[in-house]
Amino acid sequence: MQEALNEQINKELFSSYLYLSMSAYAQSLGLPGVAQWMKIQAQEELTHANKFFDYIHERNGKVDLKAIDAVETEFGSVIELFESVLEHEEYVTSLINGLVDTAIDLSDHATRSMLMWFVDEQVEEEATVGEIIDNLKMVEGKGQGLFMIDKDLGSRIFVDATQNA
Ligand code: MG
Repeated sequence: MQEALNEQINKELFSSYLYLSMSAYAQSLGLPGVAQWMKIQAQEELTHANKFFDYIHERNGKVDLKAIDAVETEFGSVIELFESVLEHEEYVTSLINGLVDTAIDLSDHATRSMLMWFVDEQVEEEATVGEIIDNLKMVEGKGQGLFMIDKDLGSRIFVDATQNA
């Protein structure tokens, strides 16, 4: 279980790195609001990594930090960019589900309980991003609409949801 949790720390840090790359890409598209949204997404992923980090220590385990893979730097149109986010979050959901399966197999009820926070978090992540994609598709080809969505996404503020869990 410890090995799998350490692997997940790496995946969460990779996610953070990926969203930071997406933030830079959004800047290059001239979408400061999207860039801000991605930056906050990157910060959130750090809190996820920390939640696993702290949990391993709480259980007197050993944290083992591995190298983080390089991330892509080009993501196509703004819709394709958010489709990549959704695809990545669906992948993360599958990883979390795999961890739950492992915890159940090992009758590790404490870890299973901790992971439930992430199960709920992934439902929210996928729903949020799905909604953004729908909105972007609605205004496709309309500069004014994209301008408004970019402004709206730029109003996102950082909340460390792991602190109220
Ligand atoms: Mg995450």
